[in-house]
Amino acid sequence: DHDIHIIGGGLAGSEAAWQLANAGLRVRLSEMRGSGSMTPAHQSDRLAELVCSNSFRSDDAESNAVGLLHAEMRALNSLIMREGDKARVPAGSALAVDRDGFADGVTAALEAHPNIMLVREKVEAVPDSGATIIATGPLTAPELAESIGASTGADSLAFFDAIAPIVYHDSIDFDIAWFQSRWNKGDGKDYINCPMDKEQYLAFHQALLDGEKTEFREWEKDTPYFEGCMPIEVMAERGVDTLRYGPMKPVGLDDPRTGRWPYAVVQLRQDNASGSLWNIVGFQTKLKYAEQVRLFRTIPGLENAEFARLGGLHRNTFIRSPELLDPTLRLKVRPHIRFAGQITGCEGYIESAAVGLLAGRFAAAEFRGESMTPPPVTTALGALLGHITGGAEADSYQPMNINFGLFPPIEQRAKKAERKKLYTARAREALSDWMAL
Ligand code: FAD
Repeated sequence: DHDIHIIGGGLAGSEAAWQLANAGLRVRLSEMRGSGSMTPAHQSDRLAELVCSNSFRSDDAESNAVGLLHAEMRALNSLIMREGDKARVPAGSALAVDRDGFADGVTAALEAHPNIMLVREKVEAVPDSGATIIATGPLTAPELAESIGASTGADSLAFFDAIAPIVYHDSIDFDIAWFQSRWNKGDGKDYINCPMDKEQYLAFHQALLDGEKTEFREWEKDTPYFEGCMPIEVMAERGVDTLRYGPMKPVGLDDPRTGRWPYAVVQLRQDNASGSLWNIVGFQTKLKYAEQVRLFRTIPGLENAEFARLGGLHRNTFIRSPELLDPTLRLKVRPHIRFAGQITGCEGYIESAAVGLLAGRFAAAEFRGESMTPPPVTTALGALLGHITGGAEADSYQPMNINFGLFPPIEQRAKKAERKKLYTARAREALSDWMAL
């Protein structure tokens, strides 16, 4: 009675269903809310419910990466953008929505679509056959999560994120920071190092203890952190030297300015294939965002750092997509299964919906026996997809918002504000060429 089964009626599943149904395919959309099951964050049984903020972030398509993603999705007949625009409330250059009006709009559109059968049911296992899109989000019900783990390999599924801040390479001061791997292992230059003397280290340690932190939500409190993912401030609480023997260990690292090991070192590791993004190793944290920016800019070499992402730690179910998924979001080992939304390791309402849009379009093309060229990596959709399906390092893979660091760099030299416009102009042209294919 259906061509495609979508599991999860959140931001991604709703968008995927809309794209498929409009392409003429019959969709079964399974949503557990409304059948007696709930996630710890949702409040209602509406589709595409926003679990926290009511903002889709910047709507500026000229100079902002998420604004550009909005524009690309509008061009591709996105339901999430259509209903977001209808439910818009004043928020300056951001797109914020009336959350009830928005979710009501999405629910009504999908309920009324003749090609969509909305079924209120909890799916407990990955289906053995039949084209399926799994879009069950960061709070995927435990039975299904277990079944996904069995399909992907247990160490390929994470139940919480441990997000270290990510810095744009071109904002690092290389008069202070230098490339070197500890004891010159590997090719000898795999890390970027920022040195601290004793006074700087002690001040930094104290600031970590004093800094304002975000609390875990009640239902996140049982989140276990493994030794390797402990927040940096929790490590700091264990003793003044714990960090110096842990992630800030200076041994084997020679500061070229002194020829000696510094008192402590902050290390950054390459985060994407193009080398535009670098994560601060071991710096996952629950410090408030403003506090992170202030404090991490006291690190020598990072005084002018620009952050593509700040650190965090939340309950968040996601798979190691760069290793597991093919370029059209299919699970390589079981290609009748696609993944979409935050479970693929994108982050944010709009990013989740964008990956749902792509999964829906890929699935529709496949069903019709056509092949669909993925959007070019110079578009926001393509940059996000590229990151998920191969651009990111699989071992350190963590959820990520869309940002210009995921795009191939613009070679032309230009001031920061101008560069952003170059990215978006290039994206507009690439999207229209791709849509004309
Ligand atoms: P969801 O929107 O969560 O949709 C998944 C759906 O699948 C849900 O409706 C769920 O009920 C259903 N489901 C789960 N398991 C099953 C099953 N076994 N069978 C059937 N149905 C199932 N992003 C932002 O941009 N801004 C924010 O402010 C923000 N705040 C967040 C706060 C919290 C607490 C969390 C957890 C996430 C937040 N996010 C935020 C991140 C993310 O963008 C949202 O979670 C977004 O809703 C993800 O979209 P999705 O479609 O992947 O998942």
